Amino acid sequence: MSTVTAPLHVMNNYARWPISLVKGKGNQVWDDQGKAYLDFTSGIAVTSLGHVPPKVTAKLHEQLDTLWHCSNLVHIPQQQILAEKLSRLSGLDQAFFCNSGAEANEGLIKLARRYAQKVKGEDRYEVITFAQSFHGRTLATLTATGQDKVKDGFLPLPAGFVTVPYNDLAAVQSAINDKTCAIMLELVQGEGGVHPAEEAWVKSLRDLCDEHGLLLLVDEIQTGIGRTGTWFAFQQYGVKPDAISLAKGLGSGFPIGAVVATKEVAEAFSPGTHGTTFGGNPLAATAGIATLATMEEEQILDQVAHIHQVLTQELEKLKAEHPDKIVTVRGKGLLLGVELTIPAGDIVTYAREKGVIFLTAGPQVLRLLPSFVTTDEEVKQAMAVFGEALEQA
Ligand SMILES: *Cc1c(COP(=O)(O)O)cnc(C)c1O
Repeated sequence: MSTVTAPLHVMNNYARWPISLVKGKGNQVWDDQGKAYLDFTSGIAVTSLGHVPPKVTAKLHEQLDTLWHCSNLVHIPQQQILAEKLSRLSGLDQAFFCNSGAEANEGLIKLARRYAQKVKGEDRYEVITFAQSFHGRTLATLTATGQDKVKDGFLPLPAGFVTVPYNDLAAVQSAINDKTCAIMLELVQGEGGVHPAEEAWVKSLRDLCDEHGLLLLVDEIQTGIGRTGTWFAFQQYGVKPDAISLAKGLGSGFPIGAVVATKEVAEAFSPGTHGTTFGGNPLAATAGIATLATMEEEQILDQVAHIHQVLTQELEKLKAEHPDKIVTVRGKGLLLGVELTIPAGDIVTYAREKGVIFLTAGPQVLRLLPSFVTTDEEVKQAMAVFGEALEQA
């Protein structure tokens, strides 16, 4: 194991693992001591095509020699191409580009407020969100987040958010009032324990939104761009949201976020109402275009379905062998959570020392986020180490 001392001049706001990663290729990463690891987290659902994916790398190299940045005072052709692709894949109409997930959700919340207040002329601003959700670390998005730990010490929080239990229709119905403008949710709660939404409940949310004139906002930052087996998770629920947020998997690791909305809602962002300096610059938009193009050319969604099948089979075997330690396996596509009766952090530590990187989603859930180019052998390697860790625990 590499020895890493606490850095003197980097803020200590992350509980970092005691390793330093310096190189990556495909599903492997290497630390500064030359030790190789199989990355079963994709850098938290980001490097879905593996590390340094060749086609995206080639396009970025080309763009590096052409134009990096030019500001949103001008048209950016790469943004138009990426927006057209996202529109075609989602069935929504228009995109706004930014730099992170939290910034995408800020845009989503601002869009919903402005649509209600300026376009519809109604005095509405309240957003209904859900317990155990995660929407980011800015003041508005941590307020939207249904977990107290992200709010500690950051009072006062902005007004206009109400949090109710997930998969509970009556709770949503009773939270709707004449100030409500939107319902905002993840369809598989990622950080909050890998909890999928029930299909009938999501359909009812769509109906409630239509009935009360509210927007249905889906946070697809972790679930989007193929992670759950379809381009967007909402496509498995038979509903169409009014707007979605994207980030993690969109740029293969190059920072980019997006809000994608119906034309009617998107028009609430008239010129001068919202913006960001770096959003969708030529480099970031190129990373997005190349990521989506690679996924289409290589029929990556079929790969996601295949790896899901191999992985869930292995997990069911482990569950049968360790019924006292594995409670259940949840999730969709390659966003899976294994609920344990033991601390998930211990499994993560054991596996990392054995050269496999896993992640938790809460104290007793192991979160698996392998890349979409993971081989059957790599799945078996990771599950063998998980099995050993369960033996040891
Ligand atoms: C990661 C995540 C965010 C926040 O994204 P950042 O890029 O870290 O700001 C928001 N929502 C969901 C569902 C996420 O998984």
